[in-house]
Amino acid sequence: MPRSAPALTPRRLTRQIHVGSVAVGGGAPVSVQSMTTTKTADVEGTLTQIYGLAAGGADIVRCTCNEEEAAEGLAHIVPRSPVPIIADVHFHHEMALAALDAGVHGLRLNPGNLRKPEEIRLVAAEARDRGVPIRIGVNAGSLHPELYRRFGGATPEALVESARMELAYFAEVGFSDVKISVKASSVPLMIAAYRLAAETFDHPLHLGVTEAGPPPAGLIKGTAGIATLLAEGIGDTIRYSLTDDPVSEARAGRQLLEALGLRERRGLDLIACPSCGRAEIDVIAVARQAQEALENRNLPIQVAVMGCVVNGPGEAREADLGIAAGRRRGHLFIRGKIVRVVPEDEMVSELVAEAERLVAEGVEARLAAADAHAEAEAAADRAELLDARGSDANAAQVRIAEIHHRFGNDAQS
Ligand code: SF4
Repeated sequence: MPRSAPALTPRRLTRQIHVGSVAVGGGAPVSVQSMTTTKTADVEGTLTQIYGLAAGGADIVRCTCNEEEAAEGLAHIVPRSPVPIIADVHFHHEMALAALDAGVHGLRLNPGNLRKPEEIRLVAAEARDRGVPIRIGVNAGSLHPELYRRFGGATPEALVESARMELAYFAEVGFSDVKISVKASSVPLMIAAYRLAAETFDHPLHLGVTEAGPPPAGLIKGTAGIATLLAEGIGDTIRYSLTDDPVSEARAGRQLLEALGLRERRGLDLIACPSCGRAEIDVIAVARQAQEALENRNLPIQVAVMGCVVNGPGEAREADLGIAAGRRRGHLFIRGKIVRVVPEDEMVSELVAEAERLVAEGVEARLAAADAHAEAEAAADRAELLDARGSDANAAQVRIAEIHHRFGNDAQS
């Protein structure tokens, strides 16, 4: 159920390249990447992980190609993969050539550790002849030592210069089928480097905060860097680098793009109120139950779990579907309109059943099928709760009166 995209800075228009069937840049949807953690020589294990990553939201998957057995593995993996495969190459240009022999859809070269111009030109010429794109993957942690010296450290200018030099080698053999990354583990450095890269190049940019670490800190760092740039219109493909199951990287990438309105929602978006003195249920527990019951059903809807019927349906009126608790009952609502009142212990199961029907039948049909008495029953529950708890369940006004009293401002209370 698509929603209108929020007003972000318009996307920077770049050249377009194709990684297998996936267009990157030039107005194509921002794509999600992740990387396998298996030995690439382990064909079945790697393919199992690739399928998991694709199901989690990855559009493109990268595998290391660090030895001959890995390249042989790629020859088996590429034709059986559900998504395009990129070979990640460091130090050894022969591995890049072997990966091209294996039929990969893209290469990632690190200019910081693959430094000989003649080898770079050889790989670029081979990629050119085969129509395979290359990512120039600059990394602050493995910057070319000469650039490190010249710029006095891994500065944004040094990272961008590394990419520019690599592009120049490619240009010598007439190759420009390129995307660029200038990653760093420091979020401010990464943001500054990508902003400069966006001013310098018209090639698509691959965004990432490298070595971000385990969640939640790794997720926060990745989101801070990637989302800031996407909101500025910068970035054509993204990767979270988490010390975690790589499927969580793919999920995070997908969820970020959906949250920014840059990709259509294809899975569940569960929202829940933060709970307060009005809550009639344990919101955290019920939200968790709902998440577990719904998340693997591939329902592209936003579902709200709200702690009370007094404010819940109104606060979550933008959600496709929601449940709010009150007087040991649950008020089931669609786009803010109460459609059924159910016993509290059936809240989650009713929510799941209605979610399935909503996706199958659509909002209009489900609103038309609403229980005719639901609104009246819900109104009675709300009135009873307001009677019992008053309109200030958090006792804020009492506290404010005490504060005024302390400062001798009783007249204001
Ligand atoms: S008022 Fe109700 S819906 Fe809002 S935070 Fe409190 S319990 Fe949740």
